Amino acid sequence: MIIVVAKQADPEQIRQELVGRGLWPLPHRDAEGRVLFLIEPFSCDSTIHDLMTLPGVESVSVAATPHPLVDQHTGAVDVSGIQVGPGHPPVLMAGPCSVESAEQIESSARRLASLGVLFLRGGAFKPRTSPYAFQGFGKQALRWLSDAARRHQMRVVTEAMSESNVADVAEWADLLQVGSRNMHNFALLKCVAAAGKPVLLKRGMAASIEEWLSAGEYLRLHGAPGVIFCERGIRSFDTATRNLLDLSAVALLSEVHSLPVVVDPSHATGRRDLILPLSRAALAVGAAGVMVETHDEPGTALSDGPQALTTEQMHELAAIVGSSCSSR
Ligand code: PEP
Ligand code: MN
Repeated sequence: MIIVVAKQADPEQIRQELVGRGLWPLPHRDAEGRVLFLIEPFSCDSTIHDLMTLPGVESVSVAATPHPLVDQHTGAVDVSGIQVGPGHPPVLMAGPCSVESAEQIESSARRLASLGVLFLRGGAFKPRTSPYAFQGFGKQALRWLSDAARRHQMRVVTEAMSESNVADVAEWADLLQVGSRNMHNFALLKCVAAAGKPVLLKRGMAASIEEWLSAGEYLRLHGAPGVIFCERGIRSFDTATRNLLDLSAVALLSEVHSLPVVVDPSHATGRRDLILPLSRAALAVGAAGVMVETHDEPGTALSDGPQALTTEQMHELAAIVGSSCSSR
């Protein structure tokens, strides 16, 4: 529900009236600077008519969906001057699963920039299933990643894994990644959003599309200037691939709702031999970009080696994305 406060009215007085009716009004400002209160629909006995008669209330409307801000902000997201989303050429985001050293990320960045990759990825803080697995080099890896990206005029996308590292990640990244395991971590979503940078929101591996969009709504409500959704595969009964790439979700968000969606076929499949065909499929259903893992020497990777594209495959992928640019 959206309650618009009249220009001359006192928003605090209206807020108190709403709280007195058992509502939980969240203040917000629209593009024209008007104060709005956003309320979860039908959480109390008050009717729309009751609320309309409150002094100082200009209008009351019921949002058609639980994520009105996401629905309102369709189209491309600006990430440090690069437009990602409907109406713009698809982008490539690539790099190793983990940032392993300054030399490793520099060598990846050089190779990828020469292929026209605009975003350098690489985890500094790694969400690993096993506590014994490599956890990432943390803060120093952010510096290595950012230095390498700047040297090759690339943008940085990397994950903030907890509230305690959001400030560091926001200092070095252009696009803040929220990982699949954290899509439901609402405290983290609020904190990442408040950093004021665009966010790449990975779909939770067992999240419905509505839950994913509502997580996007958290980001929007708490200050993220743009949200790019990233489909990275969901859990299925089948163990032949790491996850199941949900291309219906990609088509729904991009073609029907005009939202920016990037596809990550690396985590979706877990196998490098499936990544090129699925990248083609992702672009065919409207993806605004593809995010992949690649490594100079996949056999030595500290994480996710089996899904890292080889240098030759990366060349092929760049050609696929390049030809999709010219055909759109
Ligand atoms: C990643 O992109 O580094 C990653 C850990 O992905 P996900 O959160 O999708 O598993
Ligand atoms: Mn990985």
